[in-house]
Amino acid sequence: MVVGDFAIDLDTIVVGAGPGGYVAAVHAAEMGQKVAVVESTYLGGVCLNVGCIPSKALIQVGHNYQTAKNSADQGVEVSDAKLDFEKVQAFKNSVVKRMTNGVGFLFKEHKIELIKGTAYLKNDHSLRVINDQHGQTYTFKHLILAMGSHPIEIPGFKFEGRVLDSTGALALKEVPKELVIIGGGYIGSELANAYANFGAHVTILEGTKSILGNYEPDLVKVALKDFKAKGIDVITSAMAKQAEQTEDGVKVTYAVGDQEHTVAADYVVVSVGRRPNTKDMGLEQAGIKLDKRGLIEVDAQGRTSVKNIFAIGDIVAGAALAHKASYEGKVAAEAISGKPTTVDYHAMPAVCYLDNEIATTGLTESEAKEKGLDVKTAKFPFMANGRAVSMKATEGFVRLVFMKDTHVMVGAQIVGPDASDLISELTLAIESGNEIDDIALTIHPHPTLSETLMDAADVGLGMPTNI
Ligand SMILES: Cc1cc2nc3c(=O)[nH]c(=O)nc-3n(C[C@H](O)[C@H](O)[C@H](O)COP(=O)(O)OP(=O)(O)OC[C@H]3O[C@@H](n4cnc5c(N)ncnc54)[C@H](O)[C@@H]3O)c2cc1C
Repeated sequence: MVVGDFAIDLDTIVVGAGPGGYVAAVHAAEMGQKVAVVESTYLGGVCLNVGCIPSKALIQVGHNYQTAKNSADQGVEVSDAKLDFEKVQAFKNSVVKRMTNGVGFLFKEHKIELIKGTAYLKNDHSLRVINDQHGQTYTFKHLILAMGSHPIEIPGFKFEGRVLDSTGALALKEVPKELVIIGGGYIGSELANAYANFGAHVTILEGTKSILGNYEPDLVKVALKDFKAKGIDVITSAMAKQAEQTEDGVKVTYAVGDQEHTVAADYVVVSVGRRPNTKDMGLEQAGIKLDKRGLIEVDAQGRTSVKNIFAIGDIVAGAALAHKASYEGKVAAEAISGKPTTVDYHAMPAVCYLDNEIATTGLTESEAKEKGLDVKTAKFPFMANGRAVSMKATEGFVRLVFMKDTHVMVGAQIVGPDASDLISELTLAIESGNEIDDIALTIHPHPTLSETLMDAADVGLGMPTNI
């Protein structure tokens, strides 16, 4: 402590105001704790500022633009659909502002103190917050760490100028003519889809054999078909070597096997994964253990190797997703409040927001079999659904994975229209231990996309009505 820096004593401190940290803070306050949140950069974290929310705003506008241009066969002729990308960006920024302001209101409503600055741990009961003006020490009974993650930089692709990370890609001032994206994971694929919809020619360079490697091949196939129709070039088994900035663009060198190639672009976006923000903040001074990947080790309540310190979100193992961070935040807040609670990931949804959205929950068939579960699957195509036909969105299918003997749901995969919303019913079914019979017996409104879930359950019961 420096002279004059008298420590301020607090109950619970949360480091990071992303979807993990702000939700943990609000939930802890709801349960009667006095809470403060330390945040170095932005309320709402990566998700609200440079992640989920701005990307979905851009994706939606790209989708609207394509719908305007391609609805003539439905009787809507827009002869001169134009894109004002400055306005698109302004819209995206307004969405971000509204959402991040919302976090500020929540903090006020729950009397959560916001401490602006960067937190460094001094030991297991105190941390120091440094900002532009000064440093201040705080002591705490409980601490929830929720520092999130940052994009990985790869050799030959320093983030500067026309070499962008996902944050730069979301903030482009104009639609590039040529865009190269390195990494065909869900973030790279979403950006590729959005910019292709805005009119860019996009090339994805993916190091492995397929893009979207976390998803099953038949789901990815639907995405690839659409990418092909949009003119997105997907080059797999491609190792990105180097980016050379030119006067008005960037030259990207990559190798496929022994062959080296070059592609010229206006910008190159590197989207090859994210690293946890667990370095250089004194975690070792508090005795917090990390695993080999730099993730903080936690138990089923989110408690670290130090019993009064918890960690949640992208800095702990598991899918780097906003809803997973928020869920863990709630569990940690409850554990601190003395509630008997533990995490349970068996119905964790994940979504990739392409034009045909991919959404999964629970186990795939092969994951279930690896666990020794005797499962069956049932599939229903969107092309047999009246609502999908009227939306001109007939690609894709719903698949249910369920126990052969008991019919209990253990997983589901959807690719197609509004999969991101449809997956919630199936997540609830898994979470509640429902059988496919329950889904089949539930009356679904007609005509809706949600009927495909009921129809897939009927297929599973061997009594399909609509195919
Ligand atoms: C382009 C993109 C799109 C995405 N889309 C989705 C999506 O559609 N759905 C989804 O579920 N997930 C999505 N994600 C992932 C999602 O954003 C993250 O999983 C989520 O933000 C993690 O939440 P978090 O609370 O762990 O951390 P973050 O949101 O990263 O928040 C951490 C906060 O901690 C602050 N911080 C860090 N260190 C310190 C320190 N020492 N002192 C003070 N403050 C500190 C940071 O400034 C930051 O505000 C996307 C990510 C990206 C990049």
